[in-house]
Amino acid sequence: MILTDETASPPAAPLLDLELIRKYSVAAPRYTSYPPATKFTLPGEASELQDAIADDNRPGAGPLSLYFHLPFCESQCWYCGCSTIITRNRESASDYVDVLEREVQLVAARIDRHRPVTQIHLGGGTPTFLPPEELARMGMLIHGNFFPDRNCEFGVEIDPRRLTRDHVEALRVIGANRASIGVQDTNPQVQLAIHRWQPPELNAQAVAWLRDAGFNSVNVDLIYGLPLQTAETFAQTIDDVLAISPDRLSVFSYAHVPWLKPAQRIFESRQQLPTPEEKLAMWAVAHDKLTAAGYVDIGLDHFARPGDELAVAQGNGTLHRNFQGYSTAAGTSLYGFGVTSISSTIDSYRQNFKGLDEWRHAIAAGQLPIERGLILTDEDQRRRTIIMRIMCDRKIDYRSMSSLLGVDITSHYAPEIADLEDLEADGLILRTPRGIEVTPRGVPLLRIVAMRFDATFTPGTSRHSQTI
Ligand code: SF4
Repeated sequence: MILTDETASPPAAPLLDLELIRKYSVAAPRYTSYPPATKFTLPGEASELQDAIADDNRPGAGPLSLYFHLPFCESQCWYCGCSTIITRNRESASDYVDVLEREVQLVAARIDRHRPVTQIHLGGGTPTFLPPEELARMGMLIHGNFFPDRNCEFGVEIDPRRLTRDHVEALRVIGANRASIGVQDTNPQVQLAIHRWQPPELNAQAVAWLRDAGFNSVNVDLIYGLPLQTAETFAQTIDDVLAISPDRLSVFSYAHVPWLKPAQRIFESRQQLPTPEEKLAMWAVAHDKLTAAGYVDIGLDHFARPGDELAVAQGNGTLHRNFQGYSTAAGTSLYGFGVTSISSTIDSYRQNFKGLDEWRHAIAAGQLPIERGLILTDEDQRRRTIIMRIMCDRKIDYRSMSSLLGVDITSHYAPEIADLEDLEADGLILRTPRGIEVTPRGVPLLRIVAMRFDATFTPGTSRHSQTI
């Protein structure tokens, strides 16, 4: 990665042009779904949402993907954007799993649960807030109601501060084989500023336990743009993390959304947040160090070893993007369980209640705990495909995309393609008779390119985080 002037042009690697990033960086969706979750406007009781579940049982439907949201954390990290419940009361976990069991039964009764499950994810919150015996119950819940495929990718989010060897073994017994470790930053001052004290030894110990237990992929999550971070401190964080040899890394831009997450306001009052220029320098240092260490940059914010499935999927054009970020699981129907979780079928999204009490009461009444959702029109589905391919492949081939969507995209989306003129003039994309390609300079602004095909976006009304 190079902080560039006009003459610098290394092939293929993303380029950072500070002026352009400043010009185009606006609040934009992350496009883990399209339309974004902020556009799910159907009330949960709408019959169309129930019909979409029934329709998902059609012959030839794809495999299942299961997501379980386990929201409990012992303490609040002040930067956190997740849906969490802060408590030290372990009984909450047992009660929660009781309700999850009923939710799974309600859903399993409505779907063809004999479809193979190719992906399972335990997210949070902190899944290992659950003691090992509750994780074992989660395993019974999954294996007693569904049929995970032999090659099922079973991932779990790990907080090294709340992990024991017993947790790791319990997770392996229930079939977990991938772990995503929350590190964020290894600098002690940054950790104090974000209220997350995590000595590096804990990270190394977590990785050692996971590898010993036979987990075949370990991902590390980092965040840049946190209080007191500089390019120098973040360079040291990258070195610290490289020392534990993860298979993949996610290097996320800190999303500052204090209107949604009031705990983040403390960063403003202390004036500790880095400037956009400093954030970009951190991104650059991460990119340089990780690619120099042999990792391939995937999509927007992921890095993986060259032989990793994500890198292979990006190379052959089968990379996907879902609510957990980049993924190799294409064509699955996602069923989410627990508060705030999101489910999706080919033409629908449903989000569960965010409030624990509302979620629990709906399930106690024998209803699916859906707060809101959306039925996608054919046009939404086409735009979703285009946006997904931009985010994953960084290019659109007109002929193959037209054949996939069943419309000539050069005429159907003529206004959107014409509207790319300023991006092309600034060197962020190339338009040829064959298609559109995001240039290295445009990679940091992928969300902005994708946004040009987003029919739901109204400039000036966004409540999303800044692109940088
Ligand atoms: S442990 Fe993770 S989910 Fe919990 S508050 Fe911290 S960042 Fe958020």
